[in-house]
Amino acid sequence: MSAYPDTRLFIDGAWRPADDGQTIPVVNPATGLAIGQVARADEADIARAVIAARKGFATWSRVGAFERYNVIRRAASLLRERVDTIARLMTIEQGKPLMEARTEILGSADILDWLAEEGRRAYGRLVPPRSPDVTQMVLRTPIGPVAGFSPWNFPISQAARKLGAALATGCSIILKAPEETPASPAALVQAFIDAGLPGDVLSLLYGVPAEISSRLIPDPAIRKISFTGSTAVGRELAAMAGRHMKRSTMELGGHAPVIVAADADLDQAAALLAASKFRNAGQVCVSPTRFLVERPAYDSFLDRFLSHVSAVKPGDGLDATTTMGPLAHERRVNAIEALIDNATSLGARVETGGGRMGNAGYFFQPTVVTGLTPDMQIMNEEPFGPVALITPVEDVDAALKEANRLDYGLAAYAFTRSGATAARLRDEVRSGMLTINHLGLALPETPFGGIGDSGYGSEGGAEAIEPYLETRFVTHKTV
Ligand code: NAD
Repeated sequence: MSAYPDTRLFIDGAWRPADDGQTIPVVNPATGLAIGQVARADEADIARAVIAARKGFATWSRVGAFERYNVIRRAASLLRERVDTIARLMTIEQGKPLMEARTEILGSADILDWLAEEGRRAYGRLVPPRSPDVTQMVLRTPIGPVAGFSPWNFPISQAARKLGAALATGCSIILKAPEETPASPAALVQAFIDAGLPGDVLSLLYGVPAEISSRLIPDPAIRKISFTGSTAVGRELAAMAGRHMKRSTMELGGHAPVIVAADADLDQAAALLAASKFRNAGQVCVSPTRFLVERPAYDSFLDRFLSHVSAVKPGDGLDATTTMGPLAHERRVNAIEALIDNATSLGARVETGGGRMGNAGYFFQPTVVTGLTPDMQIMNEEPFGPVALITPVEDVDAALKEANRLDYGLAAYAFTRSGATAARLRDEVRSGMLTINHLGLALPETPFGGIGDSGYGSEGGAEAIEPYLETRFVTHKTV
């Protein structure tokens, strides 16, 4: 097993232990054993990061867009060069198979490239004046220091979306990265430092999440919040941001519906959906979750899906034969068990899986549940784990009704050979993202974000840089 480093804070250009020396243990979820420590920021560390972010903004916002682009592109190249080393760290601390860790890191480099490019296109405009001696200018300027909060399910890519957009537009950023998986976000920060980013432009904190957010969000220096995590926490942080008039992007939970029409290519649908469902052990905000299958296709789809599930090979992500790692921490195992217990007590049937695996680490069986009803907790709360909920529906109307029943609206999936059905779903499924007949979400160049309880703001596509820019209007009369 590779050496796993302790992780420090990065503040004002230096890696440091916490001011008071406190640390939090880091655990390998495949073994349940402690593997290292991460520094736990105290008040003095947070205050120092804020001072750095203020200073960093004053300089970075004046650096030309082309130079900013060059720095971010260099950081992306360094990530690619270091992919093997960083992927091992990610697998050891997060649990996902090495191949998935590599894919995430390489995908993050692509996201950084895209955001770097978009920073060069933060265009203002001239508005035709009413009088020839007047020039009306619309300026797009960086909003100011940002506080970003990124989660443990994708330790690098979720952080990269925030860092890339903030830095490309000329903002400084304090990143509060996940305590469960600290070493891989630290490697991302190191790539930026090695790429020539001035040390005060980006700080990295770990600690008690609520202590850090409740200190940073109200601070007058911080102008924008970006959070990825649960809807429950998102509500709290958005409310705090609102009280202090801070702009926020909220990338929250989902409960993605999957509509499989009777005319779908069932082989293709089952294969793609199983691959997507068990990626990252289902700990994905866009994970396909509520499968709604038109009745004539139900039995065939279920058989096909179950045969893919039986091929999933749970294990330590460092083992090359593993196709699904453990859950990232014990909280998830307990939460999913409770959801399944609630469903079975109300009459649901576990077709396969349904419980924790082994006596070490946080493994959960790939699971399929049927016989579901809308009153069950699992049909309303995000399982955030390797659980597919499969229900027959009478027709597309019924599928749409169930798909839109929840206030979540992040991702949705559909499989149909009918152009008319596809067009209808496009218009009527209420979600921030919909992918029909393939898995096409989360590319750097396409919008990424939810509606309703899944949050607001986009972290992909041309929209990704908008939240980091302010629009200012200047009108100038020649005298
Ligand atoms: P949680 O709600 O305690 O935490 C979710 C994330 O928010 C974590 O990264 C955590 O560090 C952070 N967080 C918690 N309280 C915070 C605070 N007061 N200020 C700032 N950050 C805070 O839950 P958890 O057990 O870590 O994860 C489970 C749930 O979180 C899942 O059910 C899922 O809905 C959600 N989640 C979503 C995503 C996503 O990609 N949208 C990622 C991770 C977790």
